[in-house]
Amino acid sequence: MKLTSLQEIGEFGLINELKLSATRQNASTQYGIGDDAAVIEPGKKQVVISTDMLVEGVHFDLTFCPLRHLGYKAVAVNVSDIAAMNATPTQILVSLAVGGRYSVEAIKELYDGIRIACENYKVDLVGGDTTSSNSGLIINVTAIGEANAEDVVYRNTAQVNDLVCVTGDLGAAFLGLQILEREKQAFMANPEMQPELEQKEYLVQRQLRPEARMDVIHELRELGVKPTSMIDISDGLASELFHICGQSGVGAAIYQDKLPADEQVLNTAEEFRIDPLTCILNGGEDYELLFTVKLSDFDKIKNHPDITILGKIVPKEEGLNLVTPSGNAYPLKAQGWEHFQQ
Ligand code: ADP
Ligand code: MG
Repeated sequence: MKLTSLQEIGEFGLINELKLSATRQNASTQYGIGDDAAVIEPGKKQVVISTDMLVEGVHFDLTFCPLRHLGYKAVAVNVSDIAAMNATPTQILVSLAVGGRYSVEAIKELYDGIRIACENYKVDLVGGDTTSSNSGLIINVTAIGEANAEDVVYRNTAQVNDLVCVTGDLGAAFLGLQILEREKQAFMANPEMQPELEQKEYLVQRQLRPEARMDVIHELRELGVKPTSMIDISDGLASELFHICGQSGVGAAIYQDKLPADEQVLNTAEEFRIDPLTCILNGGEDYELLFTVKLSDFDKIKNHPDITILGKIVPKEEGLNLVTPSGNAYPLKAQGWEHFQQ
């Protein structure tokens, strides 16, 4: 199949193609792609905005990251930031800088992923910008969301005695990246090599196609639970816990035996000779939610299959500690942690 070069259809041709990806699912979207700016009607809600940039060679590697997954991930990581404010995402804008070696078909693949994510998260693509790049591909997504003022959850409002909770499981995306890097090296050494991904599917999927936990945001709302503080886990549990505790002026105790991890994380960490605890505490890109709730909400969340209660918020003077099954407390570190013996 002959691929179409971007020069052939030009910027306006490309924008016309991309327009087809635009949908309108939210009442607040007054006008999307096609004018100098999009128009949004926020009503009485507060508007929550976040933006993220993904740079080829820094944040993604197209050797192993399909463009469709990349498009999905670029939207998901932004939706995750909106989720972490306890808001509902409504619109996104997508700006691209595209190197000359990309075909129209390649950019359409990217937009297929963007469109699928827009459908899943019920957001409207309302605009963006398209320009050329001398090097690789750069994708910037801006996500807009809405929330009632009283529903917005910040990082700086955790209180002593609150429960510390996390969604899903941790460490898989980090190990997924280790697997993909290893297979890339093996492939470069011997292009005949078939990738060995058996028993690693979950890890690879978590790296290439993360999900924002909007499902849990909706479920917490249904349960009548408003977190007292919240953050999404892009840089690892420990690092995010430091953000919550630092900004809230509190400490935390996290119980090691509560840390949620998939079996593939435990097995693969061993294979790479990495302590699984390092992956769980410091592995990035899981895009799960770390949040605190009032102790009185314990009964409402204790049986939720996707929420784990990890520990509790303590006075600042007690610091941030990991408590081992034998009851010893070891100071957590934002990156890595002080090595300890059982
Ligand atoms: P301007 O010159 O005013 O910046 P553009 O020609 O760049 O206008 O954009 C025309 C329309 O297409 C605008 O609505 C803009 O938001 C939209 N648009 C441009 N690039 C993209 C893109 N990569 N993804 C989505 N919408 C885009
Ligand atoms: Mg423009």
